[in-house]
Amino acid sequence: MAQHFQNYIGGRWLDARAGARFERENPATGEPTGSYPRSQAEDVRDAVDAAANAQALWRRTPAPKRGEILFRAAEILVRRKEQFARDLTEEMGKVLKEARGDVQEAIDMTYYMAGEGRRQFGQTTPSELPDKFAMSVRAPVGVVGCITPWNFPTAIPSWKIMPALVTGNTVVFKPSQYAPKSAYNLVAALEEAGLPAGVVNLVFGEGAEAGAAIIDDPRVSLISFTGSNAVGRQIAIQCAELGKPVSLEMGGKNAITVLDDADLGLALDGAIWSAFGTTGQRCTAASRIIVQDGVYDAFAAQLVERTKRLRLGNGLDDATDVGPVVNADQLRKIESYMAVGASDGATLACGGVVARGDGLDRGYFFQPTVFLDAKPAMRIAQEEIFGPVTALIRVGSLDEAIDVNNGVPYGLSSSIYTGDVNKAFRAVERIDTGLVYVNAGTIGAEVHLPFGGTRGTGNGHREAGTAALETFTEWKSVYIDYSGRLQKAQIDD
Ligand code: NAD
Repeated sequence: MAQHFQNYIGGRWLDARAGARFERENPATGEPTGSYPRSQAEDVRDAVDAAANAQALWRRTPAPKRGEILFRAAEILVRRKEQFARDLTEEMGKVLKEARGDVQEAIDMTYYMAGEGRRQFGQTTPSELPDKFAMSVRAPVGVVGCITPWNFPTAIPSWKIMPALVTGNTVVFKPSQYAPKSAYNLVAALEEAGLPAGVVNLVFGEGAEAGAAIIDDPRVSLISFTGSNAVGRQIAIQCAELGKPVSLEMGGKNAITVLDDADLGLALDGAIWSAFGTTGQRCTAASRIIVQDGVYDAFAAQLVERTKRLRLGNGLDDATDVGPVVNADQLRKIESYMAVGASDGATLACGGVVARGDGLDRGYFFQPTVFLDAKPAMRIAQEEIFGPVTALIRVGSLDEAIDVNNGVPYGLSSSIYTGDVNKAFRAVERIDTGLVYVNAGTIGAEVHLPFGGTRGTGNGHREAGTAALETFTEWKSVYIDYSGRLQKAQIDD
């Protein structure tokens, strides 16, 4: 029997009103990992009621006190890290070492935002008039809807929930139906830390049901979404019609550039880690590798050789390099791109098939795949595949590499391997992505710097760092006139 989980609404653990449920299974084994409420609009209404009722008290709670609760939550996450990481691997497949990293990122973010309880700086500035004081302060936006994907099921919710809470917002959280246990673990840690009832509310369920109902509710002042472009765009349209602010973090088609003067061993390590870590299901995964002519053949040969040696398996097994993909739909989608690559004229150098045998048949495993001789305009070099698939593109120069890098609809992450500091800086300046790495892969963001993408990846917001505070607060400018007479800005001398 799958373990029975409930929504968390107004400080109580509850089933969906209509009693409907869904089950999640382990993508490596097919075994059930839990049964969850399939929430509908009425459940979301209850959750928004609770969040709206808790708003007045929470926003009046001094920010340092809010931060202290987050600090306690971080300590709980530290204590539970190993169990939460195992739960995460079991429900979405990434190897245990990376699952620990996912939980660690949430720990880092929770500590970091706890500290923001004693910062959240505004500005004080001279007034243009005498005997007048001018300052700006941050104010919460109200009830925030957080809608998250499955690929970083502890980290990504923490990127939204922790800054939202420390700045005085209350939250209705709808996690992905493919990683619900990690959401449960995170919210249970917040409950144990002493978060007052109603400040965070968790509703499990489908995007088109529970997710859409959060967006529709007029009492939800802001939507923070991470997920695919197709869903993000639809949510943006819905929010525009409702006049509701929305922050979007969506897909990527990230590239590593390897120049002739690069340290090839280092670049290979970075390419393997960035292309196949989390089974290629990172928004920052390197699904393109742009290689300069002089080293292309040597790099391609070694990359293919190393890729063939990667061991597929259950992420809980220490010997596993690459875990399963998240579900059957994702497996089919990845497989369908093999024909696309072939018909576009790319050369399949390794992988390209669903993995079978050796105990893999019960899960969703795809052989790590390298395409060679890809051209920048090919679909495999333009579209987000979101699996263990990367494509090598040959270029003649740094300028060409930068043009290829920028020639996709996305702008999340990129990296360049070079021994020439001038080339590195030129690339940093001209590459149009929200993250740029030099002599490191496309992944490895730290929580105290802004995270997010340009162009099709986002809509101008950033998560993490102090930039996250911009999303979850409104600026309030305050003028205090202590002259005792009417003073007119812009009019009095
Ligand atoms: P998805 O868009 O399918 O789902 C994301 C969330 O939206 C889920 O909780 C889902 O239930 C919900 N949803 C779906 N339809 C909805 C609707 N109509 N209304 C409201 N909510 C709805 O994405 P996914 O498959 O879970 O995640 C993978 C995608 O996320 C990839 O494209 C990846 O690049 C992207 N991603 C981006 C970042 C980033 O920071 N840029 C980080 C991680 C993942």
